[in-house]
Amino acid sequence: MEIRNIVRRFEGRVVVDDVSLTVQAGKVTCLLGPSGCGKSTTLRMIAGVEMQDSGEIYVDGKLICDTVFRVPPERREIGLMFQDFALFPHLSVANNVAFGLKGSKDEKRARVEELLRKVDLMRFIDGFPHQLSGGEQQRVALARALAPRPRIMLMDEPFSGLDNRLRDGIRDETLSILKEEDAAVLLVTHEPEEAMRMADEIALMRRGKIVQQGAPYNVYTRPADKAAVAFFSDVN
Ligand code: ATP
Ligand code: MG
Repeated sequence: MEIRNIVRRFEGRVVVDDVSLTVQAGKVTCLLGPSGCGKSTTLRMIAGVEMQDSGEIYVDGKLICDTVFRVPPERREIGLMFQDFALFPHLSVANNVAFGLKGSKDEKRARVEELLRKVDLMRFIDGFPHQLSGGEQQRVALARALAPRPRIMLMDEPFSGLDNRLRDGIRDETLSILKEEDAAVLLVTHEPEEAMRMADEIALMRRGKIVQQGAPYNVYTRPADKAAVAFFSDVN
C-alpha cells in the first residue's frame, strides 16, 4: 500500500501535510507521533471514511483513491482495529468474527474457527462480548478484523485501553498473527516504546509531516532532530 503526497485541511488549517508512505505486505509500519499530529486523520483517509484534499492512495500499484476517483471503503480490502471499535454486544463471538465474511455457512464457520484458534478463544465461540475480559475482547476484535483476509490492516492505538500487564502479551500475540496473515500493517501509536517493540519500520510524524522514516534501531539511535530526541527520551 502506498500513499503519495496526501494533504488534508480542516477549516483552512493543514493537519496532514504532503505525507507519502509505503507499507509492505508482511511488515508492520508504525506511524508514531504526539497527540494531534495527524495520525488518525491519515488512517481515516486510507480507510476511505475521510477524503484527502490532494494526493493519491494505491494498493498493489492500483489507484484506489485520488481527488476524482474513489473506491468505497467496503471495497478496499482493509481491516480496521481501533481502541474504541467495539464488538457488537448482541452478537455471539462467532457472529462477531463472521460479520464481514462472505461465502457459504460452512466456509464462514471454518474461517471463524481458524481465527478463534489463533487467538486462543475457541472456548468462547458461543459466548457474548460482555462475558469476556478487555484483553479477550481485543483478541476477538483482531480475529474479526482479520477474518476477511484484508490486504491492509489499519490499527489506531489498539492496545491503549489495556492494562500494562496484559498489553505486552497481546502485542506479541497480535504481531505473530499479523505476520502469519501477511497483511500490510499500519499501526498508529503515540508511544515510542510500542513502536520500538512492534515495528519493522517507523515513520515519525510531527505537525502533519513525516519527519523521519526508517528501521526502529536507526530512528532511535539517529534521531533526525532535537524534537525527535526529546520524543524518544522516555523509551528505555
Ligand atoms: P491523537 O494521538 O491524540 O489521537 P492524532 O495524531 O490521531 O492525535 P488527528 O486525530 O489526526 O490526530 O487530528 C489532527 C488534527 O486535526 C487535530 O488538531 C484535530 O483537532 C484536527 N481534526 C481532526 N479531525 C477534524 C475534523 N473533523 N474537523 C476539524 N479538525 C479536525
Ligand atoms: Mg488519533
